Amino acid sequence: MRRLLCLSLLLLNFGLTHPSHGHDRARAPLRVPDLPGFLTLKCDFHTHTVFSDGKVWPDIRAEEAWREGLDAIAITDHIEHQPHKKDLPTAHNRSYQIARGHGEALQLLVIPGSEITRSMPPGHLNAIFLKDATRLDVPDWRDALAEARRQGAFIFWNHPGWRAQQPDGRARWYPEHDQLLAQDQLHGIEVVNERDYYPEAHAWCLEKNLTMLSNSDIHNPIGLDYDLHLGDRRPVTLVFARERSLDAIREALFARRTAVLAGHRLIGRDEHVRPIFERSLRILTPQVRVRGTGRAYVQIQNDSDIPYELRFRAEDPDLAFPGELRLPAGRVALLEVRGRAADRQGQRTVRLTCEVTNVLIRPDTPLTAHLEFQVTLVPQ
Ligand SMILES: [Zn+2]
Ligand SMILES: [Zn+2]
Repeated sequence: MRRLLCLSLLLLNFGLTHPSHGHDRARAPLRVPDLPGFLTLKCDFHTHTVFSDGKVWPDIRAEEAWREGLDAIAITDHIEHQPHKKDLPTAHNRSYQIARGHGEALQLLVIPGSEITRSMPPGHLNAIFLKDATRLDVPDWRDALAEARRQGAFIFWNHPGWRAQQPDGRARWYPEHDQLLAQDQLHGIEVVNERDYYPEAHAWCLEKNLTMLSNSDIHNPIGLDYDLHLGDRRPVTLVFARERSLDAIREALFARRTAVLAGHRLIGRDEHVRPIFERSLRILTPQVRVRGTGRAYVQIQNDSDIPYELRFRAEDPDLAFPGELRLPAGRVALLEVRGRAADRQGQRTVRLTCEVTNVLIRPDTPLTAHLEFQVTLVPQ
């Protein structure tokens, strides 16, 4: 009996410590290139904890984000919606304080925030970089937003097409939002919340010169909503910051230097998403040789964690290209180049125009880019 017990303890111990069980406290970097002069920081500015209607203790939010390769999160518990009030006292600054402590230990930036939770209009708005969230706990939303602004907060409109407030899923702009804009109390909009993309919000950001955001609005433990081990991940706001600090993030948000990375989609202004795309790729074989009607392969390495989907618009008298090509994250893809005639010869620079169909610069407009390489044509 005692031997059996020893054996089972041994097995138990082996089971708990064996590395293949995936319980390592390890960070998976999220690789997105930096822009010239700016670091690309990966941020989630909308998260909940048990201090409002979330399901986790605040320090877990910091650990989850660190493991997912994020640089910063904001803790944004609801001011007006506190279903655990009987078990946890109302303490609007407390969840941030707890998360910040663990964030400091992990060198993850944690930003104080709150969700001002009202019916539509104006709907739900997050105020981040607050100094004292308790002062937002007032009856009139106008007073709450004015107070947030007095504290220097960056304020954005959350999930504008949320079906609980807009049953058809379409975001609508109300006169109240014009008022907020005029009073400098609305600086950005969530173009993506959770897995929902709001094309109307995307268009408003361009039209009204607002900051684009993409956030998880996570309530559950992150692993319940995202299959992290299968490569699934939360949406993030990419922030192009001068350095990795809270001040630099705040400055970049007010300067509208952000983009949206959600699912396989990258959304942003041309000036931001173009260098991300271009800096993600390396052409490993910049010179290829095509013999007659034979084929050659241009090898393209994608160093980022963003898979790109290309559609070619090629009209070339000498060479044929595929209609589409996928560039999987972290891999080398083959672009097939085929000769059209047996007798062609000479060296050519090919500047192949493509639409990057998963990178949007407007709701219906993909990024247009070019791949450049040399082809030597040799007669058959
Ligand atoms: Zn909300
Ligand atoms: Zn929320």
